[in-house]
Amino acid sequence: MNRTLAIIKPDGVSAGLIGEVIKRIEQEGLRIVAMRMTKLDRRQAEGFYYVHRSKPFFNSLIDYMISGGVVLMVLQGHDAIDRWRKLMGATDPKKAEAGTIRAEMGTSIERNVVHGSDSPDSAVYEINYFFKGTDFIE
Ligand code: ATP
Ligand code: MG
Repeated sequence: MNRTLAIIKPDGVSAGLIGEVIKRIEQEGLRIVAMRMTKLDRRQAEGFYYVHRSKPFFNSLIDYMISGGVVLMVLQGHDAIDRWRKLMGATDPKKAEAGTIRAEMGTSIERNVVHGSDSPDSAVYEINYFFKGTDFIE
């Protein structure tokens, strides 16, 4: 049993894909134990993507992540981290496996609809980043 942080990014929200993404999460059998819609400010987005601060795409990534609303969720279940990454597909929609969210709904390597933690350590960091002190609805 573990938890992961999922985000529906601004391109997903503005394209009206919140319901479709949540449907796939629930059909996979992952439980949403916390959820919030918000608009990130620059400081929040930079802190969240701190590991990418020296990448060439960092400033563009931050501009994109603060360009509109996002949906933040904590997902729980056996192997939640890997199962959510599998539903999302590879970072670049062109390389993502057929049937995945990014393959079907992503429009570029940057605008790829969803985020998911990539390891147990990053899941702990990311869940605390947005949901510290929250009561999870198990
Ligand atoms: P995420 O962390 O959002 O779940 P990921 O783990 O698949 O995605 P990362 O390498 O962590 O990919 O990159 C974080 C995000 O930065 C990507 O989801 C994408 O929005 C953006 N990104 C990654 N690589 C590039 C790139 N080469 N050019 C532009 N944007 C990129
Ligand atoms: Mg990542």
